[in-house]
Amino acid sequence: PRKFIVGGNWKCNGDRASIKALIQALNAGESTIGSGVDVVVAPPMLYGDYARGLLRSDFGVAFQNCWVGGNGAFTGEVSADMIKDAGFDWVILGHSERRSLPEIKETDETVATKTAYALEAGLKVMLCIGETLDARQSGKTDEVNARQLAAVAEKVSDWSNIVIAYEPAWAIGTGVVATPEQAQETHTQIRKWLAENISPQVAQQMRIMYGGSANAANADSLARQPDIDGFLVGGASLRPEFLRIVESWK
Ligand code: 13P
Repeated sequence: PRKFIVGGNWKCNGDRASIKALIQALNAGESTIGSGVDVVVAPPMLYGDYARGLLRSDFGVAFQNCWVGGNGAFTGEVSADMIKDAGFDWVILGHSERRSLPEIKETDETVATKTAYALEAGLKVMLCIGETLDARQSGKTDEVNARQLAAVAEKVSDWSNIVIAYEPAWAIGTGVVATPEQAQETHTQIRKWLAENISPQVAQQMRIMYGGSANAANADSLARQPDIDGFLVGGASLRPEFLRIVESWK
């Protein structure tokens, strides 16, 4: 069985005071040590160390991005080596905001290069994939996910330190959550792609999280789907309600 995993992506939100208050609320929740769920929160980069120092030890900390390679003359960037050296285990890569915002526009290939390098540097990767509303409406959901995964498959052979976050862009920050049936169906297709293009074993073991307007009210019905192995939570991860979503693994 795949271990449930819940991530909290805080995006570019908060300040020292609000981050401290949020962490205090998270620390007050039930202990998950030795339980059936991995929990990882991703503070804004600058607050990574601050958050790690305050946060309960059974929650992991992720970064929200990294540079495509190692250290060097890359002004404004943070390398996977630095993230690892600073004591963090996870990085979120390929988030749809980074793929789609015109100021960023990460390509499938850039995401794949970052993924390969981060794995080499010893980080675990939450690899985000997902389609736009246009793509879903024109029946291209599986094609888009396959294209995003294929780019990674060209550069990565060992998938054991990757978890996939399926985050349909139309569900992110919109309040329009995928129905359990929609999410289950797409997760099944992702697993099928992995089985056919990587290996049946990778497909079987891969944890596929759902992201996009997940909250305390809809998490249980999504979590009951056999191919939904966790959540990547945005807005609701900034509130104590996040703990309720973590509990949906039960
Ligand atoms: P929301 O939960 O705010 O829709 O964001 C999801 C997300 O983008 C997590 O990475």
